[in-house]
Amino acid sequence: MPTDIEIARQATLIPITEVAKNAGVPDDALIPYGKYKAKVDTAALPTTANGKLILVTAINPTPAGEGKTTTSVGLSDALHRIGKKALLCLREPSLGPCFGVKGGGAGGGKSQVMPMDEINLHFTGDFHAITSAHNLLSAMIDNHIYWGNSLDLDLRRVTWRRVIDMNDRALRQIVGPLGGVSNGFPRETGFDITVASEIMAILCLAADLEDLEKRLGDIIIGYRRDKTPVFCRDVKAERAMAVLLKDAILPNLVQTLENRPAFLHGGPFANIAHGCNSVIATKTALRMADYVVTEAGFGADLGAEKFMDIKCRLAGLKPDAVVLVATVRALKMNGGVSKADLTKGENVEAVRKGAVNLKRHIENLKKFGITPTIAINHFYLDTDAELAVIKEMAESFGAEAVICKHWAEGGAGAEELARIVAAKADAGAPDFNQLYPSEMKLADKIETICTEIYRAGSVTIPAGVRSQLKQWEDMGYGHLPICMAKTQYSFSTDPTALGAPENHDVAIREVRLSAGAGFVVAIAGEIMTMPGLPKVPSAEAIYLDENGQIEGLF
Ligand code: ADP
Ligand code: MG
Repeated sequence: MPTDIEIARQATLIPITEVAKNAGVPDDALIPYGKYKAKVDTAALPTTANGKLILVTAINPTPAGEGKTTTSVGLSDALHRIGKKALLCLREPSLGPCFGVKGGGAGGGKSQVMPMDEINLHFTGDFHAITSAHNLLSAMIDNHIYWGNSLDLDLRRVTWRRVIDMNDRALRQIVGPLGGVSNGFPRETGFDITVASEIMAILCLAADLEDLEKRLGDIIIGYRRDKTPVFCRDVKAERAMAVLLKDAILPNLVQTLENRPAFLHGGPFANIAHGCNSVIATKTALRMADYVVTEAGFGADLGAEKFMDIKCRLAGLKPDAVVLVATVRALKMNGGVSKADLTKGENVEAVRKGAVNLKRHIENLKKFGITPTIAINHFYLDTDAELAVIKEMAESFGAEAVICKHWAEGGAGAEELARIVAAKADAGAPDFNQLYPSEMKLADKIETICTEIYRAGSVTIPAGVRSQLKQWEDMGYGHLPICMAKTQYSFSTDPTALGAPENHDVAIREVRLSAGAGFVVAIAGEIMTMPGLPKVPSAEAIYLDENGQIEGLF
């Protein structure tokens, strides 16, 4: 079986100018970045949006991922094959993790976006721009302190850290600036990975450049001794930061292996942020195509919930159809099979047992007023009996299910899915609703998500966290949606509790206010905002061969 990069190398790409022409992007709106990548000047495009929005989400995954990105690519290609005008909207992958564990974020098999090596590495420089804008603010904060700290920032309460797009655990907690009087005041701080930057979330939720600048100004950088907040606008950084982000805010146009258009734009973390591509790309796509296929990170308990309650709420969007990706291997795992035993032959009973996870996700999505279509992402070891059980179970839960072979066959393998989903999107989702109203109290919003979606029996919110939430309500942040940060492997906060756990306790450890992005993060469990590298990082095996081609990356 060829690897993703081998398949990618055999692809025949067409110039990005051609991709743009086919997608209806006028010449004057295209800003090419080399031959196969471009940015799109959204101001030069039609203003009315008639497209239907299709969300791709998934059941609780195995650690390898269940193929949401791959299925999004396959579905978009398949829509084109059945004569529809579609546009794919995905996140841009982060560079750092590529050097830790092998594998990229641009789909797989015959359903990939191209040029996948560039997409996974520097791409069009958006992440570098975000890193620079973030660290400009960091530098201006320390500079403000150095020159007398007239804002009276409490050095122990500066919450704004620094970022770098690299898995580097040595930078998680640091002390700086050291070196005496001429260098500033020592204080504890640290680095996060760029995708965890609030600026990444802001870029992905901003309506336009003006809104971006306003949101940058609204970032809380720290607190005074009396706990009143100090904002980015107080150190007058937001306008220069917006200058650094003026190109990054434009969507990136690339192509799939089948030469169909795709926007790859923004890549916020799916735990402490909302895990969706940018609002600007999604809204631009809805102006250009009849069907827009987009993905939300993690399983539907986190990804779809945040898509609906954060992205759709803040951007005034609404999904017309939802695709829920399920796989034999993930259902087996949810049915009690260990990771090591997943490839050890047919196990129909485990799939049947694990289907409780699928059932729960279908029930949850119905709470948003939408019945998902189940895309069974076919892996070559799956047996007919195992696949038939998923189909049968899904149908017994009231959802239509389709076996899809887009990983092996490209768009041709997902045509049936495309037909069904297009018809559902045409019918729309008139009953769509968010899980909670914006006016609900912050603590009640957290409890609603935990009981309705995670099926917790109790939610523990410590007194300190409650008073913090109350304080933010008093400051005018009570209308914000909640961004839950918990494990993606379970409905509960215990990553080993697979299947459909219920009546568990969800303990909220900490809350953080992302005032610029516009949500309150509620942390249940350990959340890592700077990943490390494994003992043998994949970087050890990455090199350029004699033809200058990248080896070992994917
Ligand atoms: P997600 O977006 O849900 O994290 P991806 O689409 O990125 O998942 O897929 C995760 C990995 O699984 C990728 O390396 C991809 O190539 C691989 N993969 C996805 N679908 C299949 C399939 N049907 N058969 C084999 N490998 C697959
Ligand atoms: Mg993905």
